[in-house]
Amino acid sequence: MKIAHENPDIWSILERVPDPEIPVINLVELGVVREVSRDENDHLTITITPTYTGCPAKKLFEDLIRETLAEHGYTNVTIQSKLNPAWTTEWLSEETKAKLMKEGISPPTVGDRVIPCPRCKSINTKIISQFGSTPCQSLYSCNDCLEPFNYFKCH
Ligand SMILES: [Zn+2]
Repeated sequence: MKIAHENPDIWSILERVPDPEIPVINLVELGVVREVSRDENDHLTITITPTYTGCPAKKLFEDLIRETLAEHGYTNVTIQSKLNPAWTTEWLSEETKAKLMKEGISPPTVGDRVIPCPRCKSINTKIISQFGSTPCQSLYSCNDCLEPFNYFKCH
């Protein structure tokens, strides 16, 4: 999904906001930041789509966005949530998925129940726990390399 970047300076600031749980990826590449608009008084409206309803990171996203914009002099900021269309794993680019793999996190697979091991790419894996290191991840184990890994199920 391509986003029209109308305020490139604001987008580049937002690209510095890391995901609170997976700091190697930022909220823009995660697809959480959907829209940026600015009126003539430099009032910013940031539209975010939380990765799933009730995701505990949603409040953190907002705080981090506010803090980072304030560091760059933007304090007149409104953050609004847009739940439709719902966040989808399709908003993750191949590059972002590759970064997740490098962190030992298997990125979400669309319409596919097979969760590949991020280390050896084996599809011979099993779930150990619905909740991994954070509520947004599940803990899996690879039957081939025997390594446990996190599967990123929401954001
Ligand atoms: Zn493996």
